Amino acid sequence: MKLNKNLYIIGIGPGNLSDISRRAYQILKKVEVIVGYKKYIECIKELITEEQQIYISGMRKEKERVQKAIDYAKQGKKCALISSGDPGVYGMAGLALEMVEDQKINLKIDIVPGITAANAAAAVLGAPLMHDYTVISLSDILTPWNLIKKRLEAAAEADFITTLYNPRSSRRKKQLKKAREIFLEYRNPETPVGIVHSVGRDEEEVMITTLKKMPLEKVDMLTTVIIGNSQSYISNQKIITPRGYNI
Ligand code: SAH
Repeated sequence: MKLNKNLYIIGIGPGNLSDISRRAYQILKKVEVIVGYKKYIECIKELITEEQQIYISGMRKEKERVQKAIDYAKQGKKCALISSGDPGVYGMAGLALEMVEDQKINLKIDIVPGITAANAAAAVLGAPLMHDYTVISLSDILTPWNLIKKRLEAAAEADFITTLYNPRSSRRKKQLKKAREIFLEYRNPETPVGIVHSVGRDEEEVMITTLKKMPLEKVDMLTTVIIGNSQSYISNQKIITPRGYNI
């Protein structure tokens, strides 16, 4: 495989090397520089060779990371900017494209998809996403809470299976509580809920519960929450959402 782009924006999946795509793997093996958030560089450290240059930065430094990757690429280095899960799902792809556009730079960019947390979590929970579903981030740092609330209400009313990203942090607890209240207005309290912490990593924890019983305090920023639709049910410790086949 020949690297013919300047900048690669790579989804590394949920955080273990087996769930990385072959294309992502091959590019990561070949680039000269890898730019990423500390925790995600840690996830792929076995792949990194001594000749490769690594640029690590901390939380909330997304713009700085993208700028570094753009700068390396502009200098003619083959550079990979890594993102957890899929880079186009609350990841680095959008920001990188926006910044390249804004700076009017002519870079050849390749975006490499990855397994997003919703799909990785769904797989360990059973088959909860078998019908129409939506993903809503509860983080109100970049999105006004009123808009998030409106989308939660619309999703609950329209009976979408709903995956919540960024559900709850030590400083941001009320959003998940409110989301649950909204869903309880439209959905049966027995609706299945899957809570998956650190999916695909050593610390993975899986819980299957219901809207009524879900323990909010178990949820943190490394957790994905999946709320079933009106047809979802729990069987044999799995959540199943029927597609509609006659069985
Ligand atoms: N680009 C990422 C999502 C980034 S938003 C992706 O496609 O997966 C960050 C949120 O994703 C977290 O707050 C959490 O809700 C979810 N998430 C990311 N990795 C996860 C993991 N390994 N286990 C559980 N949830 C995860």
